[in-house]
Amino acid sequence: MLFRFSFILLLVSCVSFSSAYQIVTPREVKQGDPLHVFVIGEGKEKIFSIEFDGEKRWPLVYLETNPHAIFGIPLDAPLGKKQIVITDITATSTIIREVNITGRPKPQAQFDIPKKLGGNTKKGEATVTSGITEENQILNNLESSSRRLWSERFKYPLVRNVVTDTYGYSRVTGGTVVSHKGLDLRAPVGTRVYAMNRGVVRLVREFTVYGNTVVIDHGQGLQTWYMHLNKTNVKEGAMVERGTFIGYSGDSGYANGAHLHISVRISGTSVDPLMFMRYFGARQRLQY
Ligand SMILES: [Zn+2]
Repeated sequence: MLFRFSFILLLVSCVSFSSAYQIVTPREVKQGDPLHVFVIGEGKEKIFSIEFDGEKRWPLVYLETNPHAIFGIPLDAPLGKKQIVITDITATSTIIREVNITGRPKPQAQFDIPKKLGGNTKKGEATVTSGITEENQILNNLESSSRRLWSERFKYPLVRNVVTDTYGYSRVTGGTVVSHKGLDLRAPVGTRVYAMNRGVVRLVREFTVYGNTVVIDHGQGLQTWYMHLNKTNVKEGAMVERGTFIGYSGDSGYANGAHLHISVRISGTSVDPLMFMRYFGARQRLQY
C-alpha cells in the first residue's frame, strides 16, 4: 500500500515537471546580495537570455545541466521593485518577473588605522581615503574575458575556512567610513591561498590599502579578489585552475592583523561572497 502511494506521488510530480520549464527567481533580494535566476525542468534549454536592470546574460551559465544567470546588487542600490526579463529561444514569450530590492542592515564598527598607514590621525584617514580611490580606479578598470573560463563550482580559497568578518558593515575611524565589501577568513601569516576557480590572473599588485592583491578573472564579468597577502605566487596573464596555489596570506595594507580578505565581483559590483557561494559554490565546510 505504501509502495503504491509513493508511486502515485512520483508520477504526479513527473507530470507537473515535464509539462514545462520553471523559472526560479527570488521575490526579494537584499542590497549587496547577488540576484540569482535559474531554470529547471523540461525544455529549460529554450531559455535564451535573462536580463536585469538593462544587463543581459547570454549565453547563460550551465551548471549541472540547468541554465543560470547571476547579477550583482550594489550595497547602495536604490530600494524598490525592478524587472527581470526572461526571453525564450522560440521568441514566443518574454517573461517578466519582479524582484524587490530591500535594505541591508549596515552596522558600524570602530576600526583602527594601522600605524604603518599613519594610525588614527587625519593623515592616516587621508592615506586610507586617497588610497582606496586610487586602488579602486585600477581594480574597477580591469578587463574581463568575454568567454566563461570556469565550469566547475567555486571553492573557498583556504584548506580550512573560518569566517572572521562578514560583508556589508562599515568600518569607522574619525570621519572616515569604509564599507567592508568582502569576506574575511582566518589565516595566520603564511597560510596558503588557492584560486577559487579557473581563470586568468588579471592583476598582481602591492597596494597601500588593499595590500598585496591578486585578481582572478573568471570571464563574463566575474572576478575573485584576494587581498592583504604576504607573498604572491602567480604572474599577471597566467591561466590558473581551481585550487592553484596563488600566494600566502598576510597582513599587508589596511589590516589590523593577519587574515585573508576575498571579494566576489559581478560586472563591477562586489557582492556578499557567502551568498555567491550558496549559489555557485561546491559543498564545503565553512566555520564561524
Ligand atoms: Zn576584509
